[in-house]
Amino acid sequence: PSARRRGVKGFVNIIDGCNRFCTFCIVPFVHGRERSVPTEQVIAEVAALAADGVREITLLGQNVDSYGHDLTPRLDLAALLSRVHDVPGIDRIRFTTSHPRDMTPQLVRAVAALPKLCDHIHLPVRPGNDEVLRRIHRAYTGDEYLRIVDEIRCWMPAASITTDFIIGFPGETDAQFDNRLRLVEQGAFDACNTAIYSPRDVTKVAAYVDVVDEQTGKDRLSALNQIAERVAAAWNRPLIGTTQEILADEVGRTRTNKVVTVEGAPLSIGQLTSVRITDAGSWVMRGEALVPVDDAAALTA
Ligand code: SF4
Repeated sequence: PSARRRGVKGFVNIIDGCNRFCTFCIVPFVHGRERSVPTEQVIAEVAALAADGVREITLLGQNVDSYGHDLTPRLDLAALLSRVHDVPGIDRIRFTTSHPRDMTPQLVRAVAALPKLCDHIHLPVRPGNDEVLRRIHRAYTGDEYLRIVDEIRCWMPAASITTDFIIGFPGETDAQFDNRLRLVEQGAFDACNTAIYSPRDVTKVAAYVDVVDEQTGKDRLSALNQIAERVAAAWNRPLIGTTQEILADEVGRTRTNKVVTVEGAPLSIGQLTSVRITDAGSWVMRGEALVPVDDAAALTA
């Protein structure tokens, strides 16, 4: 089964496996090569979740941007998103995880044109230095990555962009790590997921002997987190005073996937509500509820 549900959010697997073989990653060994779920099956699962009260769908895969290349006829993620967009009852659509190499300008434009697609792109960069990127077979340079970020900001100016960093790849020098810190500033990410590299037996990198020692890994993680937090706060502060739509679930989340705690009357689970942002930190914002979006729509109708 590829569909799961959590509250008013549904999660549907659209592709399993990965053909990329980044040298540190175990996924291709565990999940095998990419296999797309047939479009009609995805649509049926989304429709069933919508009929059951789900309002937000997240399409999942190790590399969702590769969706459909193995299907007959051949399809792409943009075509699938357009079909999901037409399913009645679904108000928000997200997808993850993207590979920067496969997040094409055409895909960015297609996503920008679909109103139900949430303004959030998660685009893992891993390291930020070209030599390390080459060593781990990521198939892009830091500049190429930043060009995609620019493309997203151009077509989706309201979008948040989040990323993953892995710290302490074998052989990463201090200078290469500094280069990565610069990329955090240049990418101006809304949030960074960070972790220290840990070897996986079957992978190529696990055989490298030039490991980064534990304390250096911890120091780098701390330095990167401090910058990421400062950059995230700088993005969020200008949102104070703006109105954002949140979907109330276990927590309230904006279309940009930021968490908002709401003061005042409790919100109904599954309700889209307009919120005025009153305070904003790096990860969580506070707000006061305005009229529920759903009620406003009913009044207008
Ligand atoms: Fe594939 Fe992502 Fe693993 Fe690279 S890191 S092999 S793209 S799943």
